[in-house]
Amino acid sequence: MRASAFHINTIKEAPNDAEIASHQLMMRSGMIRKLAGGIYNYMPLGLRVIRKVENIVRQEMNAAGALELLMPVVQPAELWMESGRWEKYGPELLRVKDRHGRDFILQPTSEEVITDIARNEIRSWRHLPVNFYHIQTKFRDERRPRFGVMRGREFTMKDAYSFDRDQESALVSYQKMFDAYQRIFSRLGLTYRAVAADTGSIGGSSSHEFQVIADIGEDLIVYDRNSDYAANIELAQAPCLIPQRGEPRESMQKVHTPGAATCEQVKELLGENLERTVKSIVLATEDEQRIVTIWLLLVRGDHDVNEIKVGKLPGFEQTFRFATEQEIRSHFGCPPGYLGPVGLDSNIQVIADLTVANMHDFICGANEAPYHLRGVNWGRDLPEPTLIADIRNVVEGDPSPSGQGTLSIQRGIEVGHVFYLGTKYSEAMKATFLDETGKPALMEMGCYGIGVTRIVGAAIEQNHDDRGIIWPRAMAPFEVVICAVGWGKSEIVREKATALYEDLMNAGVEVILDDRDARPGVMFAEWELIGVPLRITIGDRGLKEGRIEILERQNTEAVMVDVERAPQTIL
Ligand code: ATP
Ligand code: MG
Ligand code: MG
Ligand code: MG
Repeated sequence: MRASAFHINTIKEAPNDAEIASHQLMMRSGMIRKLAGGIYNYMPLGLRVIRKVENIVRQEMNAAGALELLMPVVQPAELWMESGRWEKYGPELLRVKDRHGRDFILQPTSEEVITDIARNEIRSWRHLPVNFYHIQTKFRDERRPRFGVMRGREFTMKDAYSFDRDQESALVSYQKMFDAYQRIFSRLGLTYRAVAADTGSIGGSSSHEFQVIADIGEDLIVYDRNSDYAANIELAQAPCLIPQRGEPRESMQKVHTPGAATCEQVKELLGENLERTVKSIVLATEDEQRIVTIWLLLVRGDHDVNEIKVGKLPGFEQTFRFATEQEIRSHFGCPPGYLGPVGLDSNIQVIADLTVANMHDFICGANEAPYHLRGVNWGRDLPEPTLIADIRNVVEGDPSPSGQGTLSIQRGIEVGHVFYLGTKYSEAMKATFLDETGKPALMEMGCYGIGVTRIVGAAIEQNHDDRGIIWPRAMAPFEVVICAVGWGKSEIVREKATALYEDLMNAGVEVILDDRDARPGVMFAEWELIGVPLRITIGDRGLKEGRIEILERQNTEAVMVDVERAPQTIL
C-alpha cells in the first residue's frame, strides 16, 4: 500500500466526548468516525485492525472445531417470545416493526436463532457435539454508550454456541472454548485475566469472563496471588448458595422463629445504612434445586454479626453462587463440622422455604413477628420490600475464598465471556434430539462471546504513550512503514524506498510506503500516532553512507542498517 493511495486523515484534537486514551487515539488517528451516539464508521485504517482481530478469532475458533455460519442481524420477535426474553431483555433490546406491523429485533446476541437452527437441524445424538459461531454486527441500546467502540450501541461480536448430548460433554465443549480464548488473547498480545463471572441476563449456571487489565476498565476483578482464584467482583459479592448436607427439612407454612423481625422492622433498623451493614445473604440448600434457609447477615457496630430473619431474595436475574465451605467458616468464624444436618448452628435460624422454581414470585420473609411465612407474594400480600442489599462488601486485603492469602482488586475490560447454559434455551424452545435409546432428550448448550471491536479499544488502552498507539504486531494495521524523506526531490530515495517496499511486500510483510512527500517531522508524528510497530526512514543523508534508519515504535533509539541488508534485518 502506498500512503498516497490510502486514506490517512489524522487530527490534532480529539472530540470532547472522547474521555479515555483509546477513544481519543482512535478518533485522532482516523480509525473511526462517529455517526451517532455509540455508532461508528470503521474507516479503512480501523477496519484493517478489526479484520486482524477477526482473523485470529476465526483461526482459533476453527482450530477448536467450531463451524462458522452467519445469522441475520434482524430477527423475528416470535423466537424471543418463545425464550421469554422479549419481556425480560429490557430496553437494551432494539425492537422494530416491518411494514406489516410485525415485530422484529436487531440482535444483541443469538441464542434464540441458534437454538431454532439446532432444533431444526439436529435430530440424533450422532450429530452431537456441534459448535456453531458467527462474527456479526450486534445492536444493544446501551443506556450510556461511551469510550468509543468499547461500549458502542452497534458493535461486532463473535458469538459461538455449543450443543451437546449431556452435561459431561457440554463441559468438555466449554473447556475447549475456554482454552481457545486463552490462545486468542495471548496471540493478540493482551495482558488479561480469566475470572469467574456472573451470568447476567443470558442465564445459565457457570461462566468466565476474560478481562483485559486496564485502569479505565468498568469491571472490578478480585484475585489472590497464591491460588488461581479470580472472580468478577459482582460474583464475589453475590449472595452465596450454601449446599447443605444432611436431612431434608419438612416444608414449612408458618414457622415460629423467636426473635425474628418483620420486613418493616428490618428496614427501620437499618435505614439508610442498609447497603453498608448487610454483609451477605446466605442461602442453604438441600441440593441445588431446593433452598431451605435464607439469612441476611448483618454487621452492626464493629464485631457484632447478627442474622436478620428477613430478606428479599434478589430477583431471578441475579446469580447465586455456591459458597465454599471455607468461605462459610471464615464468614461465621466457625469450626469444621459447622455444616450440620439441621442448619448451621444456633446462631442461624431458618426463615423460609422455597424452591428455585418459585424464586421469582416467592420471596422469603417474615410478615408477622416472630413468625415467618412461606409462599409470600410480595406486592400482593405485602409491600414490595426494598431489601436488595445482597452485596457482600469485598475489599482489598479480605481473606481469599481459596483460603490462601488475601484478595487484590484491579480493573478490567470484559473482552470475552463463556457461559455454560445447560438446557435453559433448549427447554424453552424444545430443542431435542433422539438419544442412543431413541428417546428425545434436551440439548445441553453453552455460549461464548468475544467483543471484536471492543478488543481494539482495549488493546490501545494497554499499548499507547503520549505520542499515540503502539500496536502489538498481531493487530497492527501495517507492520512496517517506510518513510521516504525527500520523495519528490530525490531519485535515489524513490528508487531505494520502492525497492525495499517491493521486497517486503513480496516477503508477505504488510508494509505501507509513505510517498506523500511530507516534512519528516509531520510524517513521523503521524505514524507514531497511528502506531505502526516498525518505521524505516530512507533519506538522502543516510543513503550517502549507504544506510537507512530503523526504529521500533516502542523505542526511542533508532538503528542504522546497511540499505542492502535491510530486508534481512527486518524479516
Ligand atoms: P458489559 O458487561 O460490558 O455490558 P456484557 O456482559 O453485557 O458486557 P456479553 O453479553 O457477555 O456482554 O457479550 C459478549 C461480549 O461482547 C462482551 O464480553 C464484550 O466483549 C462484548 N460487548 C458487550 N457489550 C458491548 C458493547 N456495548 N460494545 C462493544 N462490545 C460489547
Ligand atoms: Mg452489557
Ligand atoms: Mg458483563
Ligand atoms: Mg458478559
